[in-house]
Amino acid sequence: MFSRILIANRGEIAVRIIRTARRLGIGTVAVYSDADADALHVAMADEAVHIGPPAAAESYLKASRIIRAAQETGVEAIHPGYGFLSENPDFVEAVERAGLVFIGPSAASIRAMGLKDAAKRLMEKAGVPVVPGYHGEAQDLVVLATKAREIGYPVLIKARAGGGGKGMRRVDHPDDFAEALAAARREAKSAFGDDHVLVEKYIARPRHIEVQVFGDAHGNVVHLFERDCSLQRRHQKVIEEAPAPGMTDAMRAAMTQAAVKAAKAIAYRGAGTVEFIADVSDGLKPDAFWFMEMNTRLQVEHPVTEMVTGLDLVEWQLRVASGEPLPLKQADIALSGHAFEARLYAEDPARGFLPAIGTLDHLHFAETAADGATLRIDAGVREGDAIAPFYDPMIAKIIVHGKDRGTALSALGAALRETEIAGSVTNAAFLARLTAHEGFAAGDVDTGLIERDLDALTTPAEMPRGARELAALVASGLIDRAASDDPWGALAGYSHFNAPAYPMSLGPAGETERFAIAIDGPERFTLSAGDSSVALRLRRDGRNLLLTGSGIFLQATAARTADGVTIFAGGTSRHFPVPNPLENAESEALPGERLTAPMPGLVKQVRVSPGDMVKKGQPLLVLEAMKMEHMIAAPHDGMVEEILAEGEQVREGTTLVRFAEEETVGA
Ligand code: ADP
Ligand code: ADP
Ligand code: MG
Repeated sequence: MFSRILIANRGEIAVRIIRTARRLGIGTVAVYSDADADALHVAMADEAVHIGPPAAAESYLKASRIIRAAQETGVEAIHPGYGFLSENPDFVEAVERAGLVFIGPSAASIRAMGLKDAAKRLMEKAGVPVVPGYHGEAQDLVVLATKAREIGYPVLIKARAGGGGKGMRRVDHPDDFAEALAAARREAKSAFGDDHVLVEKYIARPRHIEVQVFGDAHGNVVHLFERDCSLQRRHQKVIEEAPAPGMTDAMRAAMTQAAVKAAKAIAYRGAGTVEFIADVSDGLKPDAFWFMEMNTRLQVEHPVTEMVTGLDLVEWQLRVASGEPLPLKQADIALSGHAFEARLYAEDPARGFLPAIGTLDHLHFAETAADGATLRIDAGVREGDAIAPFYDPMIAKIIVHGKDRGTALSALGAALRETEIAGSVTNAAFLARLTAHEGFAAGDVDTGLIERDLDALTTPAEMPRGARELAALVASGLIDRAASDDPWGALAGYSHFNAPAYPMSLGPAGETERFAIAIDGPERFTLSAGDSSVALRLRRDGRNLLLTGSGIFLQATAARTADGVTIFAGGTSRHFPVPNPLENAESEALPGERLTAPMPGLVKQVRVSPGDMVKKGQPLLVLEAMKMEHMIAAPHDGMVEEILAEGEQVREGTTLVRFAEEETVGA
């Protein structure tokens, strides 16, 4: 076994790898960019090496710099995690040339599976069923459009170098083919530097089921059962589970055999995942699943497999890479109970899941799971850490294991409802609502489930009554005084005859509401806004707050952030900004007059020109941020007065489009 390894990654996966290495007594070296100098993975590693500026291309993707760091620190091996350099065969060769071990498959295996088109041709030869479609060399529009017609619509255009659902477009009608092809190519080019695509039959009612495989250097290959990753949005996994709901013995036998066959065809070593797509129009059928791709690395969702098998896949990776045989034989690997993983992201479901950035001023996870289930939180951040715009905005993975699917699912829901994050918008409430979805609860999943019920799943829940009042009390800071153990402090603002009223404002800017708060006694306040006032009692039990008063009965927790107060109640949260009196009024633009960038990014494509009349919902420009393209559409009818040019780099809040004033349009 190795005595010291370098982890060429960041975030939760770097932290995850360090944990296992430490348990096995292996020393760890982290690498970090300028943006990650204070990151958790850096703090946890035995040693850390700075490798460059924040941009991944100049740090986590900089192979030569990472290899130099490995040599300088005297490690024997490099673990790539997932993403970044994990599936880069040139990196593997460079690592080996430097006399180090790459903890993963051979460069040849990665190459064989690296491009989806070549991989499908290879699998076809090996006798593994592949998704029907065109995966040849031709790339011009006419050929591809003809192939699409032969395959039959709907079709899916896919980047051959794709990953993470990027560079993929579903096309329902031949008229839309050219535009979808252009968009898929653009996204592929910028994410992978390769704009080759393949065209596949779009499977009608698809389920994504993948098989975890493991090989060693002695020719052994085993599988560790399947995971179902059908809950997706934009072809990206949202909640994964193991085993797959409704899995039959016949289907499992067919899929795991096909997966092992695929791995053997490329003499696979290490952890890998063979992804299949199943058409479940008629339920799970052993003759209705096809190979999609093989991911030659550890997968984001590997923890669900660990939970149902009781094995540590990172430990297996380390053992196999150091030359040991697989720790177990196929017959000794057993499945027990059911596990789920939910990916907690800094993103805004109510705004088309726009990635968000921010500082996690408050971060609280559930500590135990309900119903005897086990809870595991894989996070790469701590309270106070920032979600930077340079990397994937995943905050944590919430993982549960229970004796059966129902137990595990309700434990997942409970854990999500207990998750509290302030400082950035997140998908926590969306995930919690998903766990309560009837179809999901029944195990009736497919990749279209989220999209079909998107409105219900993303409509922000109503905050219970009293949230605003509670926010005002918390923001005022008076509750700390009124609830203080110090009797003098508690009564500092208290005067029986003439209670002073503290002024307090809550935003957002433009809709500021002013309150006056009077302390009536310990735990008791009067809150006035305009002509109305309400007497409230606020009790505190540890982190929990109970606010009662006329018509209000609110159990909640609260967190202060740099710019306001976030209230958490009933599995949902709401942020109340506290206006900064020093902020000048210039930012209070008329609503609808300008469209601003919701996050930092690059103006990729501009669809309209100044002077154009546009309709509500009409695409105006494409903003590329976080490696994804986001369509910015007109919020209302109007005339475009000014629009940024293609290629402009924007900050969050930069004006993208300015509309003409009403009068000008009417004239
Ligand atoms: P998986 O297929 O492992 O479940 P995804 O499909 O969500 O995970 O992601 C696929 C790929 O997207 C990853 O292998 C990686 O290339 C990229 N990716 C995902 N998360 C990250 C991350 N945190 N940092 C960099 N790349 C990532
Ligand atoms: P990536 O490398 O981005 O993970 P995949 O080929 O694995 O790309 O596809 C990602 C997801 O897109 C799948 O999990 C599935 O939901 C959907 N998908 C892929 N191919 C098809 C298809 N032919 N028909 C329907 N959905 C598909
Ligand atoms: Mg995939």
